[in-house]
Amino acid sequence: MSLDDAILTEDLGVYKTLLESTRAIPWKIEWASLRFAYIGPQIEELLGWAPQSWQTVQDWADRMHPEDREWVFNFCVAQSQAGIDHEADYRALRKDGEFVWIRDVVHVVRNEDGTPNALIGFMFDISERKRTEEKLLDMQRELEELSFKDGLTGVANRRRFDMVVEARWRDTRQAHQPLSVVVLDIDFFKQYNDHYGHLEGDECLKRVAQALAGIVRGPDDLLCRFGGEEFVLLLPNTDEATAMAMAWRCLDRLDKALIPHAGVGPDKRLTLSAGVNTIIPKEGDEVLPFIARADRRLYLAKERGRHRVVADGA
Ligand code: GH3
Ligand code: MG
Ligand code: MG
Repeated sequence: MSLDDAILTEDLGVYKTLLESTRAIPWKIEWASLRFAYIGPQIEELLGWAPQSWQTVQDWADRMHPEDREWVFNFCVAQSQAGIDHEADYRALRKDGEFVWIRDVVHVVRNEDGTPNALIGFMFDISERKRTEEKLLDMQRELEELSFKDGLTGVANRRRFDMVVEARWRDTRQAHQPLSVVVLDIDFFKQYNDHYGHLEGDECLKRVAQALAGIVRGPDDLLCRFGGEEFVLLLPNTDEATAMAMAWRCLDRLDKALIPHAGVGPDKRLTLSAGVNTIIPKEGDEVLPFIARADRRLYLAKERGRHRVVADGA
């Protein structure tokens, strides 16, 4: 053996040790045959499949989550044909039937004419990272949900209302459909707090929200706590008569909830007042005056003795 050979042999040994002792799993695929020329022995520890069981790209594709298989396979083939280095994240099947998230980082070795000669790459176990990412996404979703919810009653908050009303306004304007709003306010709530205390007042708000939530017909309707002891129902594709009937049903639901209000009225029950407004939004109409009109009608309802609905301001 010449000195050069000895050095080469030793170098190869060093490279092999390096490659096979890293956590990344090296591999090589010959392009012409689409067969594995090599895969690091670490693959067996990660996935349970022995290195010699990795024969062809079909073995690689077969050991992939069915939801990932098609796009990963097509993407890698297309990138390789185009001679572009690439990477793909997918779930690899373990011999025990579980899946492990892998990031495959691929270098395309090209012939002089640019066609692919071989693919060499590293597989990285990214399951821990994916778990963290998913946890973060869950938390983000949860936070987002919370940011649109009223903390006390659990119904949508003002922030959510402001967002939804814009969208409903646009949709109904395009569809030439009526949009209705019902503004509801508890009667004599200050006295309720004065009589029962603020904590009981909070409990009462929760019960009112619960009673009102039952009025919502589907995902298009929105009930939100507008602030304080005021709630709003936003009802797309709903004409004035229907909105008025729904407002009365809200009052009725609260009557049936039989929440005592010792300080008030002959029945000594908690009651609501409501103002209703309906519009088929046109170019030039605006959201704020639309809500403000319902609010004015609410105050008319208060003026006229409370526990009633005013719809047309008459
Ligand atoms: P009206 O019949 O005219 O609506 O009279 P009201 O007493 O209900 O109206 P007013 O606006 O005078 O009082 C509303 C009260 O609602 C005052 C405030 O202390 C109470 N309030 C607002 N937000 C909360 C809350 O989160 N919890 C409790 N317990 N009370 C609240
Ligand atoms: Mg009130
Ligand atoms: Mg009020």
